[in-house]
Amino acid sequence: MTRIEAVLLCAGSSDRMGFDKLNIPIAGKTAIERSLEALIAGGANAVAFVVNAASEKTVADIPCSVPSRIVEGGRTRRESVRNALESGSCDIVVIHDAARCLVTPEIVGECIRSAVSSGSGIAAIPVVDTLFRSSGESAELIDRAGLYRMQTPQAFRYREILEAYRLNVPSATDDCTLYLAAGHVPCFVPGSEDNFKLTYPEDLARAQRMLTRYGTGFDTHRLVEGRKLILGGVEIPFEKGLLGHSDADVLAHAVMDALLGAGGLPDIGHLFPDTDPAYKDADSMRLLCSVRDLLNRNHLSPLQVSAEIIAQKPKMAPYLDRMRDNLSSALSIPPENVSLSATTTEGMNDEGRGLCISVRAVASLL
Ligand code: MG
Repeated sequence: MTRIEAVLLCAGSSDRMGFDKLNIPIAGKTAIERSLEALIAGGANAVAFVVNAASEKTVADIPCSVPSRIVEGGRTRRESVRNALESGSCDIVVIHDAARCLVTPEIVGECIRSAVSSGSGIAAIPVVDTLFRSSGESAELIDRAGLYRMQTPQAFRYREILEAYRLNVPSATDDCTLYLAAGHVPCFVPGSEDNFKLTYPEDLARAQRMLTRYGTGFDTHRLVEGRKLILGGVEIPFEKGLLGHSDADVLAHAVMDALLGAGGLPDIGHLFPDTDPAYKDADSMRLLCSVRDLLNRNHLSPLQVSAEIIAQKPKMAPYLDRMRDNLSSALSIPPENVSLSATTTEGMNDEGRGLCISVRAVASLL
């Protein structure tokens, strides 16, 4: 078997970010976890985590499905890579900056295949913008033909990149530069604009936009006499109420299912079964708080909720603001991130005949 070791660089500082970019989860996973998953799915069968004090703790908590080792980072990226190369051995090494956490397994796989067949595989993208060199007083157009922007992963035959690192070329800032200085011609494989590096705060915002998760929820409860009508934690004076094992707050239920769906978690029927006496007459807004806590334990936080109440009677408008405030405080999101509406079905369907109340909800998470 070809021994393909990923050198995952997790020792960078977050000076330009003002945010611990490698160790704080984005939509449930840290940059280190996301990079690791792509490297393994792309073909790495061993991993060397190059860490500093902050990332060492994160790495210790990450389950890794292939043999792994921890390498102490150096003062510079170059020292870090060299520490990893000198302390290990393999056939192909795939060097990757953990801050490029949106790398795909396909890019990793292409880099590895190219390194196996041609000695190197370096993710790079052609420059498409017009380039100028400017000194302030004059400007000169640069021909962009044949120009590439280097990314990672950068994969090499292990012996060749190790020898290149031992050459000590002081000006080199990345692996490819050293490889070139050692007399090799690097092979580029297509990277991606989405394989950007978390460097500035706007990069974090971009990653968050790409990783936002969505879910939908729907619930219906029967309207019967002798029950309270509770929606979004608000008790609404009405001649009937909703039937259910819990307080039958159909709005809270639909919102919970939307949130759980967005998080890829089991639905409320699994979490709070109606056969469990613990949930008899349960306050659904408290269940909603426990759903928020469950999401938080999975490093996910609600962003927005939108829900539509489908009921012929009673009129919902006087109560929507209070429902919204209750949902917003249960979910720890601003009221403006909760939108509620109500509709009748003009006398049609079971809602229209006053047999039930239904709610449709959409939620997003990060
Ligand atoms: Mg329900």
